[in-house]
Amino acid sequence: MVPVVELNDVAHVYITDREASLAVDRLQLTVSAGEFVSLVGPSGCGKTTILSIIAGLLTPSHGEVLVKGLKLEGPTPEVGYMLQQDYLFPWRTILNNALLGLELTGRITPESTAITSGLLEEMGLQGKENIYPHQLSGGMRQRVALVRTLATDPGLLLLDEPFSALDYQTKLQLEDLISRTLRERNKTAVLVTHDLSEAIAMSDRIILLGSNPGRIRRMFDVPRNIREVLPFHARDQEGFQDLFHEIWSAMEKTSDQE
Ligand code: ADP
Ligand code: MG
Repeated sequence: MVPVVELNDVAHVYITDREASLAVDRLQLTVSAGEFVSLVGPSGCGKTTILSIIAGLLTPSHGEVLVKGLKLEGPTPEVGYMLQQDYLFPWRTILNNALLGLELTGRITPESTAITSGLLEEMGLQGKENIYPHQLSGGMRQRVALVRTLATDPGLLLLDEPFSALDYQTKLQLEDLISRTLRERNKTAVLVTHDLSEAIAMSDRIILLGSNPGRIRRMFDVPRNIREVLPFHARDQEGFQDLFHEIWSAMEKTSDQE
């Protein structure tokens, strides 16, 4: 089967008026259909840069990205991007925020609107369609952002630290909700997080990056018993702590080298 996303020898250099800096170097990465992959690594190691490249928002200085076997030339509806901050428009209602991606791609129909309303309901946002973002909690706003990302039905979701602005309880609830929703729909996902236990609890595979420049240091497969349950219970599974310590010590070694 053709991978959902394939990065071939991707490198990225940021050029400013003062210097050129290599943010990502020689990245080789393949993500299969239905897979959930997390990118972890020190701040500044290029995680957001990698997501922006996969989203088609940034053209890599070198190498190529294939999405479902086709060379990526810019943003595509096949790829949905959800950010740390929800970026909802304060002057738009919840429903109109959720419909934004469909609107931008000219796909608003009575049917797509009904599906989006259904998604809001599924995320526990029934009755909130006609109110405004400031009337919702941070966790609810992130759920709206998730609906907006899902509404265009992308095969691949990119999640850049989507829980980092939330309190711990809300974050755990949202992890389970996102995991369940993506699994039910057989979506493929790449998550960026600085929370190692979140990465283990949510993923099939974890990619550890090192910095200066961003490169893959190691990959870890998450054992089946951890993958099979939702993130909250994954943390109680046998082997969870062992994997945590294994990745942790690999991270420490990585930072020693730098
Ligand atoms: P992460 O998400 O892992 O924290 P980023 O991808 O944001 O890392 O950044 C990787 C490196 O590229 C960092 O050294 C950062 O300072 C640099 N960088 C990121 N965005 C830009 C930009 N727009 N211009 C110049 N340098 C940038
Ligand atoms: Mg980042």
